[in-house]
Amino acid sequence: MNKIFVTICAAIIFFATPAQAEEMPFLDNFIPWTIHRNQLGDEYTLRHYGKVIREIVPQAVVVHWTAGGTLESNRDFFYGEDRGDGTLNVASQFICGRDGTMWRIMPETNFARHIIGYNHCAIGIENVGGYDGNEDLTDAQLAANVRLIKYLHAKYPTIKYVFGHYQQDAARVTGLYIENVAGYRSYKNDPGPIFMRGLRNQLESDGLIFFDE
Ligand SMILES: [Zn+2]
Repeated sequence: MNKIFVTICAAIIFFATPAQAEEMPFLDNFIPWTIHRNQLGDEYTLRHYGKVIREIVPQAVVVHWTAGGTLESNRDFFYGEDRGDGTLNVASQFICGRDGTMWRIMPETNFARHIIGYNHCAIGIENVGGYDGNEDLTDAQLAANVRLIKYLHAKYPTIKYVFGHYQQDAARVTGLYIENVAGYRSYKNDPGPIFMRGLRNQLESDGLIFFDE
């Protein structure tokens, strides 16, 4: 009897340990979430998506670069609630430093404004870099993005697509694009084809859909 009990306990410990010991592929460093930020988000989502959205069901991961700054300065920038024009500030759920340090700056299904047309369904990762428009993201950032996207894909089976901000037009074949304001768009080149190819090489076999670089 005791032997069976010990065996069961050992089995429980054996199977329980990997999950408990699993490291999150990011550190939490949240920006404050205020009533005012919610109000600005409500205004933005109502105007651009036709309904109030505070929580997203992630269907895509969109990868960016910051075009400058540091991990800290970009978080400081996203800390602000409005953009200076009275509309919701831009932000992404994650920021990755040059050394691969990944910060989650808000709960990952919170609505964030990081890519026109897809914010209602996309989790954003900002990578610090793209200085002077150069494709300068690091190997450590690539590895950190791969780890995070694998984590998100496992957590949210609804995620099917990974694309770079510059692939926003190609990604319209997903049918996810929604934008109610005519002519509201912007040209983007982040995070560049080299980084997207690197992600594709390591993640496409997981069943995630990428677009030609
Ligand atoms: Zn971007």
